[in-house]
Amino acid sequence: MSTDAAPSAVRHTRIVATIGPVSRDPEVLKQLIQAGVDVCRINCSHASAEAIRGDVARIRRTAMACGKNVAVLLDLQGPKIRTGKVQKPLPLERGDVLRVVMDSALVGTGEPEPGRVFVVGTTWTRMSLDVLPGEPVLFADGALLGQVVAVRQGGAGPDEVDIRIDVGGALGSNKGINMPETKIQAPALTEKDLHDVAVGVEAGADYVALSFARSADDVNMLRAELQRLGAGDVPIVAKIEKPQGVANIDEILQVVQGIMVARGDLGVEIPFEQVPGVQKMLIEKANKAGVLVITATQMLDSMERNPRPTRAEITDVANAILDGTDAVMLSGETASGNWPIEAVSVMDRIARQVEGSEWFRLPPLHHLPASSVAEGTVLRAACYAVREVSAPMVVFTWTGATAIKASKSRPRQGVFAITHNHQVADRLAMAWGVRAVTLPVIEGTDELIAAGEKALIDAGFVQPGAEVVLLAGRAPMRGATNMMKVEVVDGRFHR
Ligand code: ATP
Ligand code: MG
Ligand code: MG
Repeated sequence: MSTDAAPSAVRHTRIVATIGPVSRDPEVLKQLIQAGVDVCRINCSHASAEAIRGDVARIRRTAMACGKNVAVLLDLQGPKIRTGKVQKPLPLERGDVLRVVMDSALVGTGEPEPGRVFVVGTTWTRMSLDVLPGEPVLFADGALLGQVVAVRQGGAGPDEVDIRIDVGGALGSNKGINMPETKIQAPALTEKDLHDVAVGVEAGADYVALSFARSADDVNMLRAELQRLGAGDVPIVAKIEKPQGVANIDEILQVVQGIMVARGDLGVEIPFEQVPGVQKMLIEKANKAGVLVITATQMLDSMERNPRPTRAEITDVANAILDGTDAVMLSGETASGNWPIEAVSVMDRIARQVEGSEWFRLPPLHHLPASSVAEGTVLRAACYAVREVSAPMVVFTWTGATAIKASKSRPRQGVFAITHNHQVADRLAMAWGVRAVTLPVIEGTDELIAAGEKALIDAGFVQPGAEVVLLAGRAPMRGATNMMKVEVVDGRFHR
């Protein structure tokens, strides 16, 4: 058995970084992008409309200055139940009572009342209508656990829910609350989501993520809202973090462009020991459907506090890549951690090592998704060809869809996408192994191919004399891919 090969020089797995207090700093953001961030995630749970606008503008400016395509992922909060604000984290111990008051403006002091009762507000003030005594409640992605012991409704003040703590810990502001056994009446999109999605698409977000997606209907509701905003073509990422989302994954994959294996809430909503298997299932299905897939949450969790990751975390990132994920995500590590740049560098190192290793198995090509027989035939032919000649693939693409399908074959030399659309180029920053260049619209296949090759040479992506496998259509960037060609790039215009 051999040891690992040398790491690859170019990383294909994409890195998503959540933007928060530490990464709003323009200098930190610049260093994150230079260290390898491909997608910036704005978590609406922690961002005001002002912050969303500011973040998108700052990300664009910085990406431009770094000369990199970076995609912006707007992650909607969805019907997430959270703690309200506290002046300092509540030091909850086993046996303490946490009193959740149905008041979103309440600021907890962090000090206990007599009998060790701690008070906190909540963003979901209908909680008292849905919970029942005896039901379990988890906090902060499941770090703390308790049980409902009393629900007080209809008094003079706001309703209250008392929870006896079984597994304690420090509970801060705006932490998630999960009630896996409670039947919660919640719409797919809240008032806040409708507001945030309008602000986000106006600011130019490249992707919108739908939290707690349960069905294709949930996704269609967001699609209808995007259409109403004149942004019907904005790709949607469904966050799979509910048992219903897992059960309905096939219909969800039909209506989305991406999914996120959102392990934080998922590991609380289903028994956590099922998460690894569900992750593998979701990644495999997404890849067969030609849908982008992000693996998220706690990937390098300890790096919020420490400059070096644990062995378990290194192995988790590596295994997600071996499972076939397009992208790996950082949450608190880059939003509010002490070592944001180091976390990105660690992911970069792991990804390059794993992609170059013999354990990175290439998927069978007969699974490649395609929208027509012609497209499927040339796509598979091109993917076989790059495996034969060890050449990069060059894809002329109008919407980016063909480049994503080609990337699902995991071509070792990557995919160069040529598009006329700058936003498509940015969106492709989420796709495994795809690097994009933009060109003006050029009529005529030969002219377009020659201009595309020149652009790749100018960008430093290929050298004159290199062999490439071209994938194009009759009007090469406008759908209907039906042509495959093995070609030597010469960098000259020829008619
Ligand atoms: P989600 O369920 O959408 O993942 P989350 O609360 O888990 O929500 P993450 O974006 O995964 O949030 O980030 C993890 C942690 O990082 C949060 O619990 C929070 O403490 C911190 N964080 C993230 N973004 C911000 C932000 N913009 N401002 C303050 N803290 C943030
Ligand atoms: Mg999270
Ligand atoms: Mg979540």
